[in-house]
Amino acid sequence: MNMKRFLLPAAFLVLSAAAARLAAEEAAVVVSGKPVASAAVYRAGGEAYLDARSVGRALGGQVYWYPVSGRVRLSLRGRAMQFVADSARAESGGESFVLPAPVKVRASRAFLPVSFLVSKPFGRWSGTDAQWDDRTGTLEIDRRGDVGPVHVFSYDGHTRVVLELAPGVAYRAAPRGAGAVEATLPLGTIESADRAEVDDGVVASYQLKQETRQARLIIQFAAKGAHWRAAELSDPRGLAIDVYAPGVPELPPPSPQKRRVVVVDAGHGGQDPGATGRRGTREKDVNLAVALELSRVLRRRGDFEVVLTRDQDAFVPLSDRSDKANALNADLFVSLHCNAASSARKSGFEVYSVSETASDPEAERLAQAENAALKLEGKDPQDETAKLILLAMTKTEMLNESAPFAVLVERALDRYTDLENRGAKQAAFYVLRGTHAPAILVEMGFVSHRDDEAKLNSRAFRRRMAEGIAAGVADYARSKGWL
Ligand SMILES: [Zn+2]
Repeated sequence: MNMKRFLLPAAFLVLSAAAARLAAEEAAVVVSGKPVASAAVYRAGGEAYLDARSVGRALGGQVYWYPVSGRVRLSLRGRAMQFVADSARAESGGESFVLPAPVKVRASRAFLPVSFLVSKPFGRWSGTDAQWDDRTGTLEIDRRGDVGPVHVFSYDGHTRVVLELAPGVAYRAAPRGAGAVEATLPLGTIESADRAEVDDGVVASYQLKQETRQARLIIQFAAKGAHWRAAELSDPRGLAIDVYAPGVPELPPPSPQKRRVVVVDAGHGGQDPGATGRRGTREKDVNLAVALELSRVLRRRGDFEVVLTRDQDAFVPLSDRSDKANALNADLFVSLHCNAASSARKSGFEVYSVSETASDPEAERLAQAENAALKLEGKDPQDETAKLILLAMTKTEMLNESAPFAVLVERALDRYTDLENRGAKQAAFYVLRGTHAPAILVEMGFVSHRDDEAKLNSRAFRRRMAEGIAAGVADYARSKGWL
C-alpha cells in the first residue's frame, strides 16, 4: 500500500471505523468450562475471525506477529505453527495445513478464521476440541484428554471412585501414606484438572491433576485405617478404586433395591425460551443440555430410573410436567432452570423447594417469573398458583421432604462447582406444587452474568453441574435408605 494514502484523512476514518468495529464485538473464550479471555471478532465474507493473540493465550501458548514479513507464529506445547497474512496456508514442523479462509490483519492485529480453530486438523495439532457458537459469540475449548472425568458413588461405609480411561492408558494404584491412595497414569493427559470435597464419611476428597509426563489421581480418606481395592472396569473403560471405612468388609457395591424413579425436568422450551443472556444464551437450551447430561450421569450409576419431561426443544405446559411425574409414581422431581437479573453483578446457583411463602422478596419475584409460562397456556398465574396451595398443603410429607432434598443438592453443588452458592431457599413454584414426590428447582446460574453465562454455555461446566446434582440426589436417596 502507498504510504502517502495513510496520511489522507479519509483513510484515517476508514481505519478508525475498522478499529471501532473490532472493539464492538468481543467473543468469550471458555477453556474447560472456565471463561479465560475475551477476543476481538472481525467478520468478513460470512466468516468470523478471532484475534490470534487472545486465542493463543487462552490455549496456553504465545502468538508472535511480524508486521514486516506478514508472518504470524503460534507456539503451543513446544511446537509452532506459522501463518502468513492474507494466505490460507499454514505450516508446522514440515506439515502443511489449508485454512478454510485466509488469515486477516486488521488494526495491526492478526485474526485467525474460526472455522480453522474448530477444525479437526487444528484440534489434532493443538490437542483440543473447540466449538464456536456464532449466536452467542462463544469459543469453547476443551482439552482432549485420555484420562477422566472422575465419578464418585457413595454407599454405606464404602465409596467407589471411578476414573474414566481411554483404551491403552496404563495405570498403577498405590498407597500414599496411611491416609490416601493414588493412581498414576504414565503419559496420560487429562481434559481438565478436578478436585472435589466428597465428605461422605469414607472419602474426604479427591484430586485429579496433570503432571509433566503423567496424570495423577489422589484420593484422601476421611479416616486413617480405611482400606481400598482397585479394579478395572470395561465398557466404558475405567479404573474403579473402592475405599472402605475401617472395619467394613471389602464387598462389591450392594445391588440396589427397587430402582427409584427420578423425573428430570428441563424448564421452558419451544415458544417459551425462559431467560435470555447478554450474549443471547437461551435458558431453555442450557436447561435441556444439563437435563440430558444429568440423565446420563444418573443412568450410569445404575440405581435410578430416569424420565425426562422433555428431550427436545418443545413447549410442555407446567401442569403436564408434574402430571407426568405423578403418573409414573416418581420418587424425586428435579426441575432445571437458569436465573436472570437486571443487575449484571448477580451470579451463582440456588436450590429451591416449594413453600407457601417465599424465603425473601427476590425468591418471590423469581417464582413469578418462572410461573409466567402459565400465560402461554392461557392461564392466570395468580389463580392457578392459589388453586394449588390447598392441594400442596395436603401433601405435607412431600413438603417436609423437599426442603432437606434441596439442602443436600445445594451442598453437593457447592462441592462440585466453583459458582457462588446462594443457598437453599423456598418459593411458590407452580411446577413443584403439583408434584407428589419431593421436588426441587435448581437455578443453575445467571445468564445475565458474564462469567456465569460463559460457563453455562460450556460442556465441561454443564457436566460438573450434572455430576453435582446427581451427587445430591444420591445423598438424599442414601438418607432415605434407598441405596
Ligand atoms: Zn426458568
